[in-house]
Amino acid sequence: MYISEKAPAKINLTLDVLYKREDQYHEIEMVMTTVDLADRLEFYLLEEGTIEIVSENRFVPNDQRNLAYRAAKLLKDRYQVNKGVRIKIDKLIPVAAGLAGGSSDAAATLRGLNRLWDLRIPVSELAVLGSEVGSDVSFCVYNSTALAKGRGEKIIELPAPPQCWVVLAKPTQGVSTQSVYQSLQLDQLDHPDTEGMIQAINQSNYQGVCDRLKNVLEIVTLPKNPEVEQIKQQMKRSGADAVLMSGSGPTVFGLVQQQSRANRIYNSLRGFCEEVYVVRLLGTSTNT
Ligand code: ATP
Repeated sequence: MYISEKAPAKINLTLDVLYKREDQYHEIEMVMTTVDLADRLEFYLLEEGTIEIVSENRFVPNDQRNLAYRAAKLLKDRYQVNKGVRIKIDKLIPVAAGLAGGSSDAAATLRGLNRLWDLRIPVSELAVLGSEVGSDVSFCVYNSTALAKGRGEKIIELPAPPQCWVVLAKPTQGVSTQSVYQSLQLDQLDHPDTEGMIQAINQSNYQGVCDRLKNVLEIVTLPKNPEVEQIKQQMKRSGADAVLMSGSGPTVFGLVQQQSRANRIYNSLRGFCEEVYVVRLLGTSTNT
């Protein structure tokens, strides 16, 4: 007997860094949505109180370093749960890619254990709890489209953006989120039009969304990681309506309306990029 949860990847439609706070965190503002590329998690009830992680992906830790483990431990301690759980993670989201795979697993764990342990915690409370595990976890608990503020934990839900195809390509060279933020010159940023993006989403204006894709972290990543720029150029040449790096990278995504064009971009990237995916934009919660 087990229950399962899907943990979809997120992409950033905008990512802005406003200022550095006194607590040394950056105050950020970003519009995020989900795509149909998801990890699948299974939760098996254990009568003894242990938390076990099972994953065949060698990049995914199977101990307390796993964000799903940390989410389970937090929930168990905070709500004094005696039972335990074995969490099987079928990893489909590329790891350390800027797609919030770990955060989405943590969020799916909060939702899944809320059901498995019959805790009946409202989703808004799960999101607050999730922010203790990581700043993207709150967004992933809702799993929809949202404006995230603060460190990423203040969530204002938005409607789903207009339907389209998303081509994702992950360059081989990784990036360190911490070093990207450290290298950021806050007085030299060209800020995204976050309000305009929200309006375009509210009006279901696909071209408006495309026109406003922007991520201030690209200013650091593009010069350091030429593959990111190469992939962006290739996607544009092959007909993407708009392209952007997601999160702190290095994954690049392109938006298109026709599936045939998405496939054309996919084929044009296959030669020099190992990890390429064509998926639908989700944008609304698939939570069970
Ligand atoms: P974000 O977009 O939130 O910055 P990311 O997509 O760049 O995240 P993740 O895939 O979440 O990065 O992985 C970052 C690191 O977290 C990995 O190197 C891995 O060691 C660790 N990690 C912990 N738990 C998980 C998990 N469940 N899945 C993937 N990575 C995990």
